[in-house]
Amino acid sequence: MSRSALPISDFLKRYVNSETSSDVFVPALIGTEHRETGTTFNVTNPATGEQLARVAEVSADDTRDAVAAAEIAGNAWKKVPVKERSALLRRWFDLVLAHREDLAQLMTLEQGKPMAESRGEVTYGASFIEFFAEEAKRMAGETLPSHGADKRLMVLREPIGVVAAITPWNFPLVTSVWKVAPALAAGCTLVIKPSEVTPLPEQVMAEIALEAGLPAGVFNLLHGDGEAIGAPLTRHPRIDKISFTGSNVVGEKVMQAAACGTRGVSLELGGKSPIIVLDDADIEEAADWVMAGIYFNAGQICSATSRLLVHEAIADELHAALASRIDALVLGDPLDAATQMGPMTSARQRDTVLSYLNVAREEGLTVLRDGTHRSLPNKGYFVAPTLYTDVPVTSRLWREEIFGPVLCSRRVADEAEAIRLANDCDFGLVATVVSGNAKRAQQLGRRLRAGVVWYNSEQLPLVQASWGGFKRSGIGRELGPWGLAGYLEVKHIIGPVLD
Ligand code: NAD
Repeated sequence: MSRSALPISDFLKRYVNSETSSDVFVPALIGTEHRETGTTFNVTNPATGEQLARVAEVSADDTRDAVAAAEIAGNAWKKVPVKERSALLRRWFDLVLAHREDLAQLMTLEQGKPMAESRGEVTYGASFIEFFAEEAKRMAGETLPSHGADKRLMVLREPIGVVAAITPWNFPLVTSVWKVAPALAAGCTLVIKPSEVTPLPEQVMAEIALEAGLPAGVFNLLHGDGEAIGAPLTRHPRIDKISFTGSNVVGEKVMQAAACGTRGVSLELGGKSPIIVLDDADIEEAADWVMAGIYFNAGQICSATSRLLVHEAIADELHAALASRIDALVLGDPLDAATQMGPMTSARQRDTVLSYLNVAREEGLTVLRDGTHRSLPNKGYFVAPTLYTDVPVTSRLWREEIFGPVLCSRRVADEAEAIRLANDCDFGLVATVVSGNAKRAQQLGRRLRAGVVWYNSEQLPLVQASWGGFKRSGIGRELGPWGLAGYLEVKHIIGPVLD
């Protein structure tokens, strides 16, 4: 069954400023077709627990059709002159920004982040489309010296082919654009499986792309559960590369699926990142960086700096500054302009975080702030911003990714101990260093085992820089030229000089 696209503005209007949005139905997008399916699942507003939309859950047949549509579209897309490909991406960028306010509201309704954060995610997400529209024009081959004067050796880059992109729910727009924009710039086509928790922004982004003139089939959208839909997609033999962002547990399954058929895979996985505050740091500034690294997006950040290593000389003062900032943090309806922290995105994630708070009680951790220090909204999936101090390195809360607003702090005696404890971790996504001496912070950063190090700054993944982790935090890099390279094959051609 199929039906034609809703004009994007109508689609958005039905959610935004509407009190009866739960009747909105979201189809799959396969080639030119908006496909309805026999079964649906619900998307919920985490601030109220109410239904927001019904989404078409696809079947194995739909998955096969989507991969075939991407393969057919890919034959034409890779031949579209780069200038034209770039112009289409640029038009998509312009239209995303034109819809910024509505997209942001939709994201807040579905994911629960405050409006200011959602607006930031749209603007920031769009900037990646703009970047890769330009980067497409910079894809260059090389001519290398050959072993004989009569031979010519050329190195060329070609699109990998059909990409399966699988994304999580914490930054639904950004995590998908990080894959779609470079893949399209490279000349690849995609089948995307957004998180079943937050499928709407990616749907809207796809609708906007069609409106911008991107050919049907260059990206296809399948909705549904990870095991039921994501897993068969990753096993599909016509997928040439899998680009995955999500948890380590699922990442390992994706890697196994990629091994079957020897397909490429990139994995952006979890983190348990350190923030080191040195003894010469300005306390107020350090407290601001610590807050930004853990309570933004209610702590549902892969790059959350959730382990605080603070020099013992300033630890009490910093903890006091953090406690007063936590007390001042406004929790509530994320649509309300005053709100600084919204709910967890799902009841499931709230329960996961609460289970860690139970572990903390069993382990006897020292609580500086938690749910006993404030009242929470009486509906929705809220968890109070929480801070434990003097957490033992053996604690599960110190070692495991919680993915919520839970900060664990430890005192350190010197730089050497800070570095040792920071690196004593299975993950290596990011790290932050705060110091009154930027040179000292930068030097210390070079000794940290992480794909990204921020000093005297926080949560700043720039489009022109690389993104990706050391150790268990993943394989491969997104963004910048590295992001584009992930969707290109390298090939050389050698033979007699023809001229
Ligand atoms: P998740 O692994 O549960 O799900 C991610 C996606 O995989 C979803 O779309 C899900 O439906 C799908 N999936 C589930 N089982 C699958 C299977 N067997 N085969 C294929 N796909 C399957 O992760 P989540 O809860 O959505 O997201 C949170 C995790 O994502 C955290 O660990 C976080 O650190 C990580 N993350 C990492 C980055 C990064 O850049 N490194 C960015 C954002 C989130």
